[in-house]
Amino acid sequence: MKKYVYYFGNGKAEGRAEMKGLLGGKGANLAEMTNIKLPVPAGFTITTEVCTYYYVNKRKYPKTLANEVKTALKKVERVMGAKFGDKKNPLLLSVRSGARASMPGMMDTILNLGLNDTVAEGLVEKTKNPRFVYDSYRRFVQMYGDVVLGLKPQHKDEIDPFEVIIEEKKKQKGVHLDTDLSADDMKDLVQLFKKAIKEKTGHSFPEDPLKQLWGAVSAVFGSWNNERAIAYRKMYDIPESWGTAVNVQAMVFGNMGDDSGTGVAFTRDAATGANVFYGEFLMNAQGEDVVAGIRTPLPIAKLKEENAKIYNQLEKIRKTLEKHYREMMDIEFTIQQGILYMLQCRVGKRTAFASIKIAVDMVDAKLISDREALERVEPAQLNQLLRPVFDAKEKDTAITSGRLLTKGLNAGPGAATGRVVFNAPDAEEWAARGEKVLLTRIETSPEDIKGMDAAVGILTARGGMTSHAALVARQMGKVCVAGCSALEIDYGTHTMRVNGKVVREGDWLSIDGTTGEVIEGRVATKPSEILQVLVDKTLDPKDAPIYQEYAKLMKWADKYRRLKIRTNADQPDQASNAVAFGAEGIGLCRTEHMFFGEGKIGPMREMILADTEVDRRKALAKLLPLQREDFEGIFVAMEGRPVTIRTIDPPLHEFLPHEEPAQRELAAQMGIAYEKVRQRVEGLHEFNPMLGFRGCRLGVIYPEITEMQSRAIFEAAANVMQRGIKVEPEVMIPLVGHVKELADQEAIVRRVATEVMKEKGVKFPYLVGTMIEIPRGAITADEIATVAEFFSFGTNDLTQTTLGVSRDDAGRFLIPYVQKEIYAKDPFESLDRVGVGMLMKMAVEKGRSVRPGLKVGICGEHGGDPSSIEFCHQINQNYVSCSPFRVPIARLAAARAALADMKGKRNA
Ligand code: PEP
Ligand code: MG
Repeated sequence: MKKYVYYFGNGKAEGRAEMKGLLGGKGANLAEMTNIKLPVPAGFTITTEVCTYYYVNKRKYPKTLANEVKTALKKVERVMGAKFGDKKNPLLLSVRSGARASMPGMMDTILNLGLNDTVAEGLVEKTKNPRFVYDSYRRFVQMYGDVVLGLKPQHKDEIDPFEVIIEEKKKQKGVHLDTDLSADDMKDLVQLFKKAIKEKTGHSFPEDPLKQLWGAVSAVFGSWNNERAIAYRKMYDIPESWGTAVNVQAMVFGNMGDDSGTGVAFTRDAATGANVFYGEFLMNAQGEDVVAGIRTPLPIAKLKEENAKIYNQLEKIRKTLEKHYREMMDIEFTIQQGILYMLQCRVGKRTAFASIKIAVDMVDAKLISDREALERVEPAQLNQLLRPVFDAKEKDTAITSGRLLTKGLNAGPGAATGRVVFNAPDAEEWAARGEKVLLTRIETSPEDIKGMDAAVGILTARGGMTSHAALVARQMGKVCVAGCSALEIDYGTHTMRVNGKVVREGDWLSIDGTTGEVIEGRVATKPSEILQVLVDKTLDPKDAPIYQEYAKLMKWADKYRRLKIRTNADQPDQASNAVAFGAEGIGLCRTEHMFFGEGKIGPMREMILADTEVDRRKALAKLLPLQREDFEGIFVAMEGRPVTIRTIDPPLHEFLPHEEPAQRELAAQMGIAYEKVRQRVEGLHEFNPMLGFRGCRLGVIYPEITEMQSRAIFEAAANVMQRGIKVEPEVMIPLVGHVKELADQEAIVRRVATEVMKEKGVKFPYLVGTMIEIPRGAITADEIATVAEFFSFGTNDLTQTTLGVSRDDAGRFLIPYVQKEIYAKDPFESLDRVGVGMLMKMAVEKGRSVRPGLKVGICGEHGGDPSSIEFCHQINQNYVSCSPFRVPIARLAAARAALADMKGKRNA
């Protein structure tokens, strides 16, 4: 018989940390913490398989489940010494979701379950604490009413209906804080809540504890498919099929008086990675108060003053957990009348900065290996490290001129400037119009996830470093300032007051997520520490701790990766930046970009408009020295590293003016009639230019273009060599589908190379190769490789031609396609492995079958995408080439691909 329920309690658990797939992250770790003898209240986990069953079987449960739950509940009752639903000695439960991957706040939770009017009376009798009992009871009804029975705000500007009732009560009583309400007030609230639920939803609040339990369990399973959970899964690639587990656990109370409390903490600083205990707590409060950011909690260090014994116990647990998990952990705890309980632990989410620092520190401390360090840093996170910071001078000026509005918590590092909006739907809408927005909320909730994603930064009035806003922002790599209590936000009028000033929707604000400052207006940003060291060279590495950690990690990456990393660059400065980031060559220099440079577009247009070969050659002669100079610059910048230069590729009409005034100007420049220019432009018009007269077809029809470009490349190579700098040019012919196209072009390139060597009296090494970017090229790769000395996958075109989807027009339908999961990801961003990928794999194999040492790379945009890079590794390519700023990402992704490969082989 299948087991659906796993018990934990009293130092023994049926589950283990490794069982995340079945028990979810929370359930597996509750079991693990129980097993390593940490103080965990007893409970049980209903497996993710039940979730799957529930959805497959029209929201019904396996027959044996009810019995298993009953048995587990009995064990919990025994260990906790209380009975569920009992009038004298009641056991209360929490019911929480727990998926395999953490989805903070996306699904539902219910606390204090098991209370009804008679149980509450009994609990008052037992605890002699009516205020605690009725506070717990009203929280329970509120949560149950919201989560299970569906009484929630109906409109984006609407306040929570339960909060409205609480506010009315406070007004009626003339008090300001929830804590000022009496036990009788709370008791009243319970009845008012129940009435509101009945009136507004038509459902009665269930008094039977067992009914409450099953209602809560169903709500949690149901929340796996709520809108925000779905959005979150999409964002983080969590498969729908995983399902959630449900954890039912004995309640312990942080709101039982001043000797009780609750908190959340990270075993290290989640923002910077520093090895300090980092967290916050609230005395006399329940868990949700800390995370939801309703009250601003105190830093964990203050707990030492409040209760040294508990603090020391937590410090010990912190060390135990780090040693056991060899990871930075995120914990939740509750103190009930001076006794500490652990309610959760999981691997802590962190910024890119923290991620790298923790990984590097743990290697230094011999807690993990350098391989594990690499496995722990997501390549895409490196983007955050390259993000701008505020220009210090500009910021100082802004502050001294009185523009500092307030300071909050530095929850997500980096600098952001944007226009204020006060709710998530507006943030999405404005961002879709191309506005940079700063999502400003009293506090954020999981509903805001899409708006947070759309914003450049997040600013909140309440909540701490571990509030929802802070957590999610860090994970998304968003700049975030949280807990700015000076902000008085009015959702209704879309305005806020800050220390006497009024900020309206649409006003510009700047937030510094590294310091917590909130500044009026815009503040200019400047490059990150790593850029200052590597690119601007304005900072000494010695003074750049973040750079140092980054450099260590990159060194390890270089040790393990097998793929070489090149860059796509067509200017010397781009090339130098890429080298600073670690590029080992240029994988694609698009020569056509050079034609748009100073003084070049004129002769280029002359060349295109020429009627005869003689005229064309005249124009090309003007272009030759200009191109040669460009190539010299690039060869010098690359200091002997290989440089792949592609011959002209785009349809010629892209170089011509299409409006009459510009055409007239060109005619005048060239001394020909306007009409002739107009006609020629028209003549070059194509219905389908991407499949038209472009790529190698240009060089086949006009060999003199290839001749000029080869000459420019080789003369530049000879000149640079004569200056004592090594060169390694690789001439690449684009859009080849037939080996004869390549052979035709190759003959020209080789002839010119020989000529130039003779003229200049130098010998230089060079290669001639091709791009594989149309399916025929891949299919006939064994023919093409008889000529080509290297292949480079042009996956932008290869995706376009394989899918039959225009890369320039796909936006309109590809986004809905991805939403409908027809393609898991945009195939222009991340390689379509099963389609395009198979062509690539075949091309590598066929190519090497005739030329065993064939060098193979990729230079489409996918060359900077971690998943695509992994695939390139798997099919045994030699290198990937990507834009300069993605070179660090590619280095790390290539190392991770190599490590995964080694692991796979070891396990095979
Ligand atoms: C490609 O097609 O992938 C490629 C790199 O060439 P381009 O983007 O210039 O067409
Ligand atoms: Mg292409």
